[in-house]
Parts: sequence; C-alpha cells; structure tokens
Amino acid sequence: MDLSRVRVLIDEDALRARIQDLGAEIRAEYGDAPVTAIAVLKGSFMFMADLVRAIGGEVRCEFLGVSSYHGGTRSTGVVRITQDLKHPIEGQHCLIVEDIVDTGLTMDYLLRLLQVRKPRSLKIVTLLDKPTNREVDVDVDFVGFTIPDEFVVGYGLDLGEVYRNLPYIAVYTP
Ligand code: 5GP
Repeated sequence: MDLSRVRVLIDEDALRARIQDLGAEIRAEYGDAPVTAIAVLKGSFMFMADLVRAIGGEVRCEFLGVSSYHGGTRSTGVVRITQDLKHPIEGQHCLIVEDIVDTGLTMDYLLRLLQVRKPRSLKIVTLLDKPTNREVDVDVDFVGFTIPDEFVVGYGLDLGEVYRNLPYIAVYTP
C-alpha cells in the first residue's frame, strides 16, 4: 500500500451524506415493500453495508461474487461468477448494488443473469458512474456520484486486493 499514489476524490462526509439521500430515494421508490439488495462482491461490500441501513424497512441481503478484472486496471468484459446467490429471487423486488459502472459490460451480464430468475422488478444502484467509457447501454436507476475517467480505489474498491479499506474514494496514480 502506497498512500503517496492516492488522492482523495470523495471524502467520508460526502459519502455519508450522499448515501443517506440515496437510501431515502430508494425507499421512496419501493414504498413499504420488501427489497432484496444484491451486493456485487467484492467491491460493493462497504457501500452495501451503509446503503441497506440508509434504505431502512425490510431489506434482504444477498451477495453475488463476481470477478471481472483479474488484478489489472482495464475491464476485460469476461465476467466470472465466483459465488452465486443463496436464495431464489423469483417474485421479489431486487436491487443490484454495484460499486462502479464503467464500460457497462459487467452490469449488462448481471442483468441478463438475474432477469431469467424472474424477479418482480430489477433495478440498479451504483455508488460511482464513469460514463465516458460506456460500451453497452445500461439503464442505471440510482447513481451516487458521476466521476471522470480515472482509476479509483478505496471504500471497497481495490487495486490487486489492496486499498479496499480506505474510508474514502481516491484516484490512484501509477
Ligand atoms: P465494467 O464492466 O462496467 O467496465 O466494470 C465494472 C467493474 O470493473 C466494477 O464492478 C469494478 O470491479 C471494476 N472497475 C471499473 N472501474 C474501476 C475503477 O476505477 N477502480 C476499481 N478499483 N475498479 C473498477
């Protein structure tokens, strides 16, 4: 871990405030209905923990293990499921909780994977959106922050499994 390579982009206060608002926005969308939040691991584990508390009401937590990078900094478009959901999602209001949408390839794959399991509804929340690199159109329902095309780490996001435990989002410069 080399902190001289990272520069804070979104600090802890900004994250906390935005996630509170996102939670309220999401709860308003579903009313009193139960929601199944599906965290895309590993990157979204920290966001998931804060977001489900901000949503409130009845929220079931599911975890989907996905690997798309294999340690580098470019998306390959090849998505590997490393851990599947533990329960069926048929008939449930499902919310995919993602850390970042970049090319959109991962999300496009996940939408198709989950849609065939017949959820009642399927929406997406991403903490970060990097729209400049989009290769496939994905309809993201809730966005925390739109960021420029830079490689970011922290708050769950890694570079080769390092930097995930930083409490803020930072730009990493090689
Ligand atoms: P996409 O398939 O949309 O290109 O990328 C989605 C996945 O790539 C994310 O879930 C995340 O794991 C990874 N990713 C994309 N951009 C970044 C970034 O700036 N930093 C990190 N750490 N991971 C990223």
